[in-house]
Amino acid sequence: MQKPTALVIGAGIGGIATAARLAKNGYDVTVLEKETTPGGRCNQIVRDGHRFDIGPTLFLMPEIWEETFASLGERMSDHLELRRIDPTYKVHFDDGLQLELTSNLGDMQTQLERVDKTAFTGFLNYIAEGSKHYKMSVEKFVGRNFYNIFEYFSMGNLPLLFQLKALKKHYANTSRFFKDERLKAAFTFQNMYLGLSPYDAPATYSLLQYTELAEGVWYPIGGMYAGIQALTSIAEKLGVKFLYQTPVKKMKEERGKIKAAITEDGREFTADIFIGNADLPYIYKELLPKNNEAKKLENKLYTCSTIMFYWGVDKEYPQIGHHNVFLGGDYKASFDQIFNDHTLPDVPSFYVHAPARTDKAAAPEGQETLYVLVPVGHLDARSEQDWEALVHRARETVFTRLAKEMGAEDLREHIKFETVYQPKVWKERFNLEKGAAFGLSHNFWQVGYLRPQNRHKQYHNLYFTGASTHPGTGLPIVLLSARLTTERILKEKGTIAVQNLNYAVGQA
Ligand SMILES: Cc1cc2nc3c(=O)[nH]c(=O)nc-3n(C[C@H](O)[C@H](O)[C@H](O)COP(=O)(O)OP(=O)(O)OC[C@H]3O[C@@H](n4cnc5c(N)ncnc54)[C@H](O)[C@@H]3O)c2cc1C
Repeated sequence: MQKPTALVIGAGIGGIATAARLAKNGYDVTVLEKETTPGGRCNQIVRDGHRFDIGPTLFLMPEIWEETFASLGERMSDHLELRRIDPTYKVHFDDGLQLELTSNLGDMQTQLERVDKTAFTGFLNYIAEGSKHYKMSVEKFVGRNFYNIFEYFSMGNLPLLFQLKALKKHYANTSRFFKDERLKAAFTFQNMYLGLSPYDAPATYSLLQYTELAEGVWYPIGGMYAGIQALTSIAEKLGVKFLYQTPVKKMKEERGKIKAAITEDGREFTADIFIGNADLPYIYKELLPKNNEAKKLENKLYTCSTIMFYWGVDKEYPQIGHHNVFLGGDYKASFDQIFNDHTLPDVPSFYVHAPARTDKAAAPEGQETLYVLVPVGHLDARSEQDWEALVHRARETVFTRLAKEMGAEDLREHIKFETVYQPKVWKERFNLEKGAAFGLSHNFWQVGYLRPQNRHKQYHNLYFTGASTHPGTGLPIVLLSARLTTERILKEKGTIAVQNLNYAVGQA
């Protein structure tokens, strides 16, 4: 019997994982990727012995990764050597307070009680709530498809939405647990991993702090890209064909179905089903025939963008830990400037990644590989920014704080080379709408059934996988997206037996 064919547009983690799952379930799969290598936002830069992950640096929710490998007939431990990073990261406040977030409860107690006598009890309660949110979200919302609105707003689900505090704001909710403003910041800035402001994000996202401290922040030896390499080689073993440097220019429709993907060089690729992994709003706007949905998507809320510095440094700075967060200025004002004014805050906060602390091979002997992420607003035609000037100001802020607070006074002189990413790069190289580094936002109106669904409403042979469809952004969540999209395809196309698709938290 001839196998059904699937064409995936984009070899980000969502595209790779969906392609592998479909191949495992009997599809003949081809992936078209515009870049020379797979990975998308989870790609890497390798230069002069320095290895940088481009985007993700925190390997979270390992059991979701484990389930992906298991569904492909593999064991994660045969492919990835994970190291737990604990303390997860050091948070530096600009008044001199430093906190090392750790799963060691004794250490947490000492540090928190130094700030406020009641803070440790608040912390335990906060993590307990985060645990409830995590388990409930994955089982009831994030880890399943909603085929219609009645399933989402069902009598069973409505009380759960309240229990998950989906309508409460994350920052406001932390007041129940912490009095000190710095602690509220220390336990909400993680929303930035999803490109969200804690003043807008649902309180549900306390699940992030729970997963970090209880389930751990991990790092795969070889970098986050090791995860991409492992999944790509498994996909290839299952028969998936990857065609690189093959950007898709348009998708052709015929009698209410997608008929072909046409590449920049004019080739036409036909298939039974198509899966868009490139950013969903970009697919609607640029690849599909003219449609009203594209305009609607443009008006949705988007995550923030980032200015990135990738520095190859010819000196080691052992005082810089693996993950470092520097918070500055007025916390609320800085989010307003990012999310309302779409710019760089007056006093920018930032994150520094020094992977050679854990994995020596990330930098040449005695040298340093530094990745700096500065959250900024996404591109907004109504508020044009002088990005060159903002990049300059961001760089100076980082130098000043690393000199003052980490004793890295001579860092500037030891930078051998620098690569800079800013919102225009995210847009132009990765085709991310508005240069929003994490894709569509996740407020109440853009999650669950209300998020763009993983199948096109009109073209029933066009599916989506990745950060801007259900369930959302972040590597493990995109791995869930791959599972849900595959599950939907197998259910709707009904051609092949559904395998390995039963999953609940902790059941890897
Ligand atoms: C700076 C940064 C830090 C992050 N940190 C973390 C973290 O620590 N932990 C975490 O879990 N997540 C993190 N994330 C989020 C995570 O990287 C993303 O959610 C995830 O990588 C998205 O994967 P994806 O498959 O949806 O999309 P992408 O990675 O964007 O993949 C889409 C692919 O489609 C290709 N493509 C686009 N247009 C075309 C076309 N026309 N034709 C062919 N191919 C095309 C692109 O080249 C790309 O390879 C971070 C993201 C960023 C940007």
